[in-house]
Amino acid sequence: MKTLAEIAAQLQGYDPKALPADAVGEFLSHLVEPVADVEDVPVFDALDRVLAQDIASPISVPPHDNSAMDGFAFSSSELKSAGTITLQVVGTALAGKAWQGSAGAGQCVKIMTGAIMPAGLDTVVPQEFAQPNAAGGDSDRVSFDAGVVRAGDNRRLKGEDLMQGGAALAAGTRIGPAACGLIASLGMANVPVRRKLRVAYFSTGDEILSFGEPPREGAVYDSNRYTVHAMLTRLGCDVIDMGVVRDDPAKLEDAFRNAAAKADAIITSGGVSVGEADYTKAMMAKLGDVAFWRIAMRPGRPMAVGRIGSSVLFGLPGNPVAVMVTFIAFVRPALLRMMGAAPLHHPYLRARCLEAMRKKPGRTEYQRGIVTTAADGHVEVRTTGNQGSGVLSSMTQANGLIVLHHAQGNVALGDEVDVLMFDGAV
Ligand code: AMP
Ligand code: MG
Repeated sequence: MKTLAEIAAQLQGYDPKALPADAVGEFLSHLVEPVADVEDVPVFDALDRVLAQDIASPISVPPHDNSAMDGFAFSSSELKSAGTITLQVVGTALAGKAWQGSAGAGQCVKIMTGAIMPAGLDTVVPQEFAQPNAAGGDSDRVSFDAGVVRAGDNRRLKGEDLMQGGAALAAGTRIGPAACGLIASLGMANVPVRRKLRVAYFSTGDEILSFGEPPREGAVYDSNRYTVHAMLTRLGCDVIDMGVVRDDPAKLEDAFRNAAAKADAIITSGGVSVGEADYTKAMMAKLGDVAFWRIAMRPGRPMAVGRIGSSVLFGLPGNPVAVMVTFIAFVRPALLRMMGAAPLHHPYLRARCLEAMRKKPGRTEYQRGIVTTAADGHVEVRTTGNQGSGVLSSMTQANGLIVLHHAQGNVALGDEVDVLMFDGAV
């Protein structure tokens, strides 16, 4: 485990007083490590967990060549000539068991979707293209035009989804609904996953009210604990709510010691801005290895990171939008890494900007965006209006963050911009 100073020494141009947003992500990727413990969970409980090992397929899926349609299975050698083909129906193949007979030249087998292809037959004509009782009204014959199928049509091949012994899922996969089904399709009732992260969080500030406390001048109800709790829950963490802690060094020290004893990560809000940081700094320096940054970003800027005991600390700013933005931009990727997840490749959406925006090069700005598709098919984005870092309603209206990158300048009406879509992640 590297110290903060060792990590900082590795990074080009590390400046804690003006840290580019990209450098934050890189720093944190060196600071955190995946939890080692692995547990087996039933597939029904595996959603959003992180796969701890590669899974090779113990069987082939599907296990046999089978029909993709209800119809008639026959040998493609019957397709030699154009025009009408008439075949004698010599049996029925149902899903779930092999048809035991054999079909020769001029013959076919009525077959249901999913039924094993009878030996020697490789093509299925769907029933809607086949006329029974053809020419002479003979009920055990079907006719169809040779043009409606090609050799091999409507047959699924053994192992076309997963071949026995082949790679099915890679370690580090965050298990989604499709992976739940895929694991089940292998006949696996349980799956090895990394243990859940335990994340403790608390809000700080003398002006922060909890439910039940009467409003008083200059005080605001705590919202950060609720956004942080919700974002951690979406991420699949075990959450430890530690309430609101007053701006009192002894109480804060207690809270940090308590949190560090229980949690893999600690998330706090408030108390890291310039005026407040001094006593927090002194106290944290006593408890662990902590750096105070000023990040070249908006909203956000002040942030504390480090280790207290074996817990990783994310000391977020106090403003409600800044909490969410720094969580999305930095904390979430770091926690996913701690969960053992493979690095994210969350693509930006390019959208045509419906308003001009002033932007100074030299910092990253995250504007709350509303993305829509225009009548002409273009993806468009506008802001939610007031971008103040305390305007939490902007986060409820937005469906993504417009990311104005570090080196980027003003945006003109109609320019394309990058948008980080929420996509249910936050
Ligand atoms: P701070 O970073 O502690 O100086 O806080 C910056 C701003 O965010 C102040 O206006 C605080 O009142 C506000 N704030 C801090 N913590 C919370 C919280 N938990 N819920 C709502 N607002 C907060
Ligand atoms: Mg404060």
